[in-house]
This record gives sequence, structure tokens and C-alpha cells, in this order.
Amino acid sequence: MALKIFETCVNCWACEPLCPSTAIYEARPHFLIDAKKCTECEGDYSDPQCASICPIEGAILGSLGEAMNPPGSLTGIPPEKMAQAMAELQAH
Ligand code: SF4
Ligand code: SF4
Repeated sequence: MALKIFETCVNCWACEPLCPSTAIYEARPHFLIDAKKCTECEGDYSDPQCASICPIEGAILGSLGEAMNPPGSLTGIPPEKMAQAMAELQAH
């Protein structure tokens, strides 16, 4: 079981120093998680440290491909409101 970093990662470096398994590494075009090393923080922390610090919704995925920080979870903006705002911006 391992988490994954998705392409929306902005290479902010926040997660890399927190990983107890040194599973996170700098790569191109974005940071990656070594699936062989990631323990999902089990035995070290009660929740995955990378996902808990990552500021980008959807940048870290769980072992089933689900967003650890789903849309709206960090901004507090409901996804439908965000979609509406983006549509209005694009219309102008
Ligand atoms: S879940 Fe934990 S062990 Fe896995 S990459 Fe994130 S910080 Fe490292
Ligand atoms: S904290 Fe998130 S955005 Fe920052 S480097 Fe890690 S995965 Fe990428």
C-alpha cells in the first residue's frame, strides 16, 4: 500500500522532509513517492504526513486513486461553487 503524488503537485517541498520512510523524492516534472518505501505512515503517525501538509487539493492520491485532500477540503469552497465561479470567469 502506498500513496501517490499526482501531476497537480507544485513542487513546494513541504512533504519531502516529513516522510518517516524517506519515500518522497524530487523528480521531473514533480515529486514522486517510492511505492516500495511508503508505509502510509503506519506505525509512525496516525495519518499520512505528506497528505496532511500538502497544500494542493488532489495532489496526493490514496492507494485506491482517491484524492487524500478532495476538492473543497482545504479551501472550504464547495466544488460546485468553484465550478460555477470558474465558468463565470471564463465567460468574461
Ligand atoms: S504516506 Fe507517509 S510514508 Fe508514505 S509517502 Fe507519505 S509521508 Fe511518506
Ligand atoms: S506537499 Fe504536495 S504540492 Fe508540495 S511537493 Fe508534496 S505533493 Fe507536491
